[in-house]
Amino acid sequence: MSVKIALAGNPNSGKTTIFNALTGSSQHVGNWPGVTVEKKDGRLKGKPDVVIQDLPGIYSLSPYTLEEVVTRNYLVAEKPDTIINIVDASNLERNLYLTMQLLELGIPVVIALNMMDIVRKRGDKINVSKLQDQLRCPVVETSAVGGDGLQQLINQACELAQLGKASQPQIVFSQRLEKTLAQVGDLLETAGVLKRPELKRWLAVKLFERDEKLLAELHLSDTVRQRLEKMTAECEAELDDDSESIITNERYEYISRLLQQAAKKTLPTGQLSLSDKIDKVVTNRLLALPIFAAVMFVIYYVSITTVGGLLTDWANDGVFGDGWHLFGIGSGAYEAAAEIDPDADPAEFGVWVPGIPVVLENLLAAVNCADWLQSLVLDGIVAGVGAVLGFLPQMMVLFIFLAILEDCGYMARVAFIMDRIFRRFGLSGKSFIPMLVATGCGVPGVMATRTIEKEADRKIAIVTTTFMPCGAKLPIIALIAGALFAESGWVAPICYFIGIAAIIVSGIILKKMRFFAGEPAPFVMELPSYHLPQVKSVLLTMWDRSQSFVKKAGTIILLSTIVIWALGSYNFSMQPTETQDSMLADIGRTVAPVFAPLGWGDQWEAAVGTVTGLIAKENVVSTFGSLYVGLDEVSEDGNEFWAVVAAKYTPLAAFSFMLFNLLCAPCFAAIGAIRREMGSLRWTAFAVGYQCALAYASAMVFYQIGILLNGGTFGLLSAFSLALLAVFLWLLLRPEPKASQNKIQTVFES
Ligand code: GDP
Ligand code: MG
Repeated sequence: MSVKIALAGNPNSGKTTIFNALTGSSQHVGNWPGVTVEKKDGRLKGKPDVVIQDLPGIYSLSPYTLEEVVTRNYLVAEKPDTIINIVDASNLERNLYLTMQLLELGIPVVIALNMMDIVRKRGDKINVSKLQDQLRCPVVETSAVGGDGLQQLINQACELAQLGKASQPQIVFSQRLEKTLAQVGDLLETAGVLKRPELKRWLAVKLFERDEKLLAELHLSDTVRQRLEKMTAECEAELDDDSESIITNERYEYISRLLQQAAKKTLPTGQLSLSDKIDKVVTNRLLALPIFAAVMFVIYYVSITTVGGLLTDWANDGVFGDGWHLFGIGSGAYEAAAEIDPDADPAEFGVWVPGIPVVLENLLAAVNCADWLQSLVLDGIVAGVGAVLGFLPQMMVLFIFLAILEDCGYMARVAFIMDRIFRRFGLSGKSFIPMLVATGCGVPGVMATRTIEKEADRKIAIVTTTFMPCGAKLPIIALIAGALFAESGWVAPICYFIGIAAIIVSGIILKKMRFFAGEPAPFVMELPSYHLPQVKSVLLTMWDRSQSFVKKAGTIILLSTIVIWALGSYNFSMQPTETQDSMLADIGRTVAPVFAPLGWGDQWEAAVGTVTGLIAKENVVSTFGSLYVGLDEVSEDGNEFWAVVAAKYTPLAAFSFMLFNLLCAPCFAAIGAIRREMGSLRWTAFAVGYQCALAYASAMVFYQIGILLNGGTFGLLSAFSLALLAVFLWLLLRPEPKASQNKIQTVFES
């Protein structure tokens, strides 16, 4: 017999951790709310007939947010055999609010008191048997990260499922409320809308709360509706409150009575825990932003420039270059000797491991392989794919840092800080969560916008999320920083802040347009207490993000480099030729003038890179690798990559190139995600159009003003750029248009 078990709980209560432990899968675990947007199912390890469903994290079963609707529709329509309600035991009061509602559904519930390790560390006490008696359902203590209690939890859940619908005894509210709920329940029964008797209690409560969605779904007749309204209004009049608040208050009263008996806190109220003390500083009104900026600066600096940079040098020069000396022994002596005699044999100076290009070259020469094939492998694939893979170490280091920040709980604070800023401009603080996800990859970033309730705010987030520098844009940043800015540490962090700035600025501009106007929905979020990051989950997250990068290198990027190689090696009469005379050069030269105002129109390779970047952003660098290093006869040497790029661009042009590629339309996969989330071609076109326009305008204004500041002459383009800047500032700073919704409201009120 197959058993369906659903995991439900507040955001950040540990659902996904438990889901992963039970099913052996590796879903993303994040220490901030809203990570699980979709529901995911898996099978119990060792017992494939038990299906386990991970549901989005929610605080309540009201109809206000997408996650809540997804969850309650699932629970009501799919009738799982058991609900495992995961409760963050370190935050019982808030979490039990959902428990109260789950208990109304008439589905057997097992409560997992998770995060018990934190509770114990704090010295707090929870009386489990009291909780069990009062809530009338099994309660199991767990600590998901250590796996404690999970076996007992799943055993309990399966046992309950086997028992069938053990109708759960209800929690009893005040007499007055119970009277009305009984009336409503009876009304539903006599009206014949109660198809499933076990839902009587839940429906009665929801209809008493005037749940719009359910009222619409049930197709109640007018007389039934009127009687319902009368019952509700009577109760409201007697208790002197609106029905929703009545229910909320009674639930919280029940919970606080329960906790008085069943939970004991060590900390006297008013005293701050360590977590609270850190928060006092980290979320401080004045310090919060500088601290966040400093943290991100250090992370990008260390990942791209120092540690990551060293690893990348090693990868670029060693693995994808000539090779390297084992443990560095002899490399210094060899370099000294090579200065004098370029033909010196490195093997004479210690254990020398040749790089991949050298090995492949020897191999291909040994098997007497055709020239064109050698060129394809060495100049096309190795130069192109190698150029991208060389940046993998930097990316992995960055992903580890981001995963640590996420896991320890800091990123949740950042979302909270950002909410304060975003709110000022009428934006939803929830937009920050997609931004965080997008630093890995834009596709899940765009998908994470689903947590934003207001359609207009969600659209703004979809349009802007991919401005963040995702993993695939990192090689571009690292290349430009390394080649033109002497690996100076500020380039990479600047790109991160440019991404955030582009999002905020776009948000402000779009919000002032009529369609997007309106107050943002409230952003409720719990700050999880800080904890040491779990090595396993950090590595898992890092691997999750890097893996897709490696996979792309072996597929899309590989294919693209082959096409680039072919187009760059032959002319239109299909004759082998120099790259400068190839089809690709012709095509590139046709497109390049478009980018002339941005400062890099004389480099057709840059135009080609930008276009191939639409397929995957890594292609920008792999195309440079193939065109500047692989196919370019002048330099056959891997470690000259940066030198070649440095010789071709001025720093101003290179930065403008990077700026454009950072902000312009994302790769096809992300555009596809935008299309899915927008659900409309016109909105997709708007998003891509806006992104490209912003990218083009920013890069042009940056470059042209840069030229002026460097003593260039004032021309038509400079004038145009200044005008563009003025328009941009006007869009940004103009007052809210009159038509915005809140204005209309005040007009009506006065
Ligand atoms: P979800 O949002 O409910 O899916 O929660 P997650 O499974 O993503 O977990 C949120 C965070 O809490 C992660 O950083 C987990 O590592 C951490 N976590 C989960 N369970 C426990 C636990 O029992 N003890 C502690 N200390 N941390 C936990
Ligand atoms: Mg989750």
